[in-house]
Amino acid sequence: MRGATTASVRDKLRAQLADLKMPGALEALDEILARVDGGTLHAAAALDALLGAQITLRNNRRLQAAMRSSRLPAAKTLTDFDFTFQPSLKREQIESLHTLGFVERKENVILLGPPGVGKTHLALSLAVAAAQSGRRVYYGTLADLITSLEEAQLSGRLTHRLKTLMFPALLVVDEVGYLPISRTGAMMFFQLIARRYERASTVLTSNKSFEEWGEIFGDEVMAAALIDRLVHHSHIVNIRGNSYRMRHHADLAQLIQPAPDRSPPRHRRPARQEA
Ligand code: ADP
Ligand code: MG
Repeated sequence: MRGATTASVRDKLRAQLADLKMPGALEALDEILARVDGGTLHAAAALDALLGAQITLRNNRRLQAAMRSSRLPAAKTLTDFDFTFQPSLKREQIESLHTLGFVERKENVILLGPPGVGKTHLALSLAVAAAQSGRRVYYGTLADLITSLEEAQLSGRLTHRLKTLMFPALLVVDEVGYLPISRTGAMMFFQLIARRYERASTVLTSNKSFEEWGEIFGDEVMAAALIDRLVHHSHIVNIRGNSYRMRHHADLAQLIQPAPDRSPPRHRRPARQEA
């Protein structure tokens, strides 16, 4: 065959990839060379595939390490996100956020909307993208973070804990608004956000509108100061849609409704939008 890779060239490539510690590329090598020899892959595409295989392996390793150290509860990605289910979202905006310019610029992302619309999913997929790019990330619900700050304060290590929470280039604060928080908890969270302001990015999710934050934090003035810092350089994503968790119930309702003998007519209601 014309130009077929000789065994000695193949061995040398293997040895070089092993020497450079590129196991992803090493594993992909034989298949790439077979396609080159078969004439279906040209030189530039072959190099692209070889380097791409190594980058994929490296990014997966970074993500696995982050899953251990960053407390990410799941590796959600944008690929798993069904935009057709959530038409209120601007796909270009979400995709553009995933290129992580906001992390470089130390801006925040605030995801607002009712339960089940994908706020945590998108916060996690941003954290996954950041972890794959080699950035340090950390995940916590507001309640988790406040508990950890309270524990640190009790053991006289609050300043140290606040410093530790400054390291991540991206901090996810999930579920602002589900649980009431104590006044001291609110004050410590304010300190955290004030420290990270213009220094590192925070991605925050809430089922409550900003007007309701005074109630969550038990102090209108502090909530206003908090919102001021969070929102100053931020991307606010409002999701107004149906709960993805409830989608099967909608399907079920449609399946059940047409069956005439299942329920007496007086029980039939017009199809309702889920809250
Ligand atoms: P929220 O944080 O807004 O309450 P979640 O992000 O936890 O909602 O979403 C609930 C579940 O539904 C999760 O398992 C999430 O991955 C999934 N989900 C939500 N929206 C979508 C979507 N548009 N496409 C695919 N999965 C989704
Ligand atoms: Mg959530």
